[in-house]
Amino acid sequence: MKYPHLLSPLDLGHVELPNRVLMGSMHVGLEDGVGPLKKLGAYFARRAAGGVGLMVTGGIAPNRTGWLKPFSSKMSNRYEVWQHKYVTDAVHDEGGRIAMQILHAGRYGYHPFSAAPSNIKSPITPFKPRALSARGVRSTIKAFAESARLAKQAGYDGVEIMGSEGYLINQFICTHTNRRTDQWGGSYENRIRFPVETVRAVREAVGPEFIVIYRLSMLDLIEEGSTWDEVVELGQRVEEAGASIINTGIGWHEARVPTIATMVPNGGFTWVTRRLKGQVGIPLVTSNRINMPDTAEAALAGGDADMVSMARPFLADPDWVLKAAQEREDEINTCIACNQACLDHIFKNQRATCLVNPFACHETEWDVHPVSARRRIAVVGAGVAGLSCATTAAGRGHDVTLFEAADDIGGQFNMARRIPGKGDFDHTIRYYRKQLELTGVTLKVGKRVTIDDLAGGQFDEVILSTGVVPRKLKLPGIDHPMVLSYSQVLRDGAKVGARVAIIGAGGIGFDTAEFLAHDHHSDDPADFMREWGIDTSYAGRGGLAEPEMKKPDREITLCQRKEGKLGARLGKTTGWIHRAALKKFEVTMLSQCQYEKIDDDGLHLTVAGEKRVLAVDNVVICAGQVSVNDMLEPLRARGVSTHIIGGAELAAELDAKRAIAAGARIGAEI
Ligand code: NAP
Ligand code: SF4
Repeated sequence: MKYPHLLSPLDLGHVELPNRVLMGSMHVGLEDGVGPLKKLGAYFARRAAGGVGLMVTGGIAPNRTGWLKPFSSKMSNRYEVWQHKYVTDAVHDEGGRIAMQILHAGRYGYHPFSAAPSNIKSPITPFKPRALSARGVRSTIKAFAESARLAKQAGYDGVEIMGSEGYLINQFICTHTNRRTDQWGGSYENRIRFPVETVRAVREAVGPEFIVIYRLSMLDLIEEGSTWDEVVELGQRVEEAGASIINTGIGWHEARVPTIATMVPNGGFTWVTRRLKGQVGIPLVTSNRINMPDTAEAALAGGDADMVSMARPFLADPDWVLKAAQEREDEINTCIACNQACLDHIFKNQRATCLVNPFACHETEWDVHPVSARRRIAVVGAGVAGLSCATTAAGRGHDVTLFEAADDIGGQFNMARRIPGKGDFDHTIRYYRKQLELTGVTLKVGKRVTIDDLAGGQFDEVILSTGVVPRKLKLPGIDHPMVLSYSQVLRDGAKVGARVAIIGAGGIGFDTAEFLAHDHHSDDPADFMREWGIDTSYAGRGGLAEPEMKKPDREITLCQRKEGKLGARLGKTTGWIHRAALKKFEVTMLSQCQYEKIDDDGLHLTVAGEKRVLAVDNVVICAGQVSVNDMLEPLRARGVSTHIIGGAELAAELDAKRAIAAGARIGAEI
């Protein structure tokens, strides 16, 4: 067996879990609303069928004050018990197990009824919470216990008490948010009274034969966070109070350190859980940026923890455990930690899905059935849109030929994977390469297909996923040898001098700046910890240290025409990281630029009306793309049934999420 630790059962006394995999809590937007939670049930049932040992729902509030946002999910009455029965029944029908997470948002609540230990507004919400009275604290503990009792009644196998990520329980623990002077504030003993009493009350409410997970903030990553000794003490106290498992929480939401995004090294925080091993007697779960079985197995085999938690990897592939057990890991559709379709959606009040798996959270809405009449389909362009389309259509039984002019598949992903910290994008190419093989797609690379190749009756349908080319600007001097396109830099390895101006500050302008700034980049996790100020010796509070960034050898200026801060349209949950990284690299950011010309002296422009010349060795153009769609009309004119998807259809919003979803949709419907 290749993953003996990962796939060994875990005995919790009253119940044995089949393996060491916990599907961690993640809000997906199917939890809220009225009526039975059938879509949420189908979502979890699909993952239970894929063999996960234990799953945890997104955060469910114990009362209205604890809501994440107005009318978000809650478990405090019989109606809600009835709603959730649809989830637990669906999971149990597939032989799975599921715990409900009880989350009180405290000052992170995005509504005017929020309450917290003290009335201190959080930096990430506009509402100032009221301070809970001593009676309010007691009734909140009761609400947690009642919520757990109702969860049991709804058929859940356990609950997880959310004690990390800066939510209410965490707010009690740290002086950063707890300025109380009563028995719930002041000394550490007083500040942890709330979590300890909550665990005790929950255990009393549910009895001994029920899983109670406590999610412990083991590394706060904020000033005034807990010390390591305090973390250990809390772990021991929640164990005494009746927790059956301790899960790892890393970083408050307001922490300015990336904890789950792509640039976080794989398994980069398992060392934190390891520190607690031996200090408590109950099983420990480790988490954050574990996305493949080898990383999970290494963490368990190395003694870092007893279980691993993954959330987003199960959006990307519900059969993750099954594939690991059958040693088909090259078939895993790996989460690339982009956040684009999951967390970014949730923060925009949209239902989550997954960039690499558009079926996620839409289990009841897609119908991908085997075809009754096999058709001959040509897909032109093997970027992610074409790959998604070809493999979905061939998987249903169509006869698919995929043409690619370049020597290999992957399109724009071949550039993205070269950006420091985006190495996981390789997994997507590996996944599709395997899918092409499994679904029997005929792949023709290094072939620029012609209209005659497609229009001579060889194919019943043609799908153009011919992608984009970088936009060429109309600017005097644009043909000067110092001017490069981003694809020449990222894909072709063009030589770039020590002083660079980048025109265009969208996702690719930022990526290009990071690429050029990372002369000293290494994949060593220790460098990531140093650069972001994470103290692995845990000498002070919150595990924070002074960040130490190796300055780039290049002088980089990033320019945009718009007013306002650069990168404002980057991903909601990752944009701040890219902006912070470039700031650390001392990249100069200029807005309100009007470009005038490029010559031997450099880039001539006006910045907010003031004339300037940037004396640079190279100007890199990252000003968006234009579609490659020149085959569409000729094919249609010759009567060929032709469809167009991805960047070829719409370059303005070139986006892998849209491209993969469009490919999957046409592949499922054709
Ligand atoms: P983009 O986001 O559309 O940005 C291109 C930028 O170029 C614009 O912000 C625009 O800003 C500027 N521009 C456009 N036309 C111009 C012109 N004629 N002259 C001068 N400047 C011009 O495109 P992108 O950066 O190529 O990214 C493409 C897509 O890739 C994005 O939609 C994103 O989804 C994805 N992506 C995201 C990330 C990420 O989030 N980290 C990374 C890579 C790619 P001004 O008009 O203000 O100058
Ligand atoms: Fe992972 Fe990106 Fe999918 Fe979210 S959208 S689950 S981060 S691959």
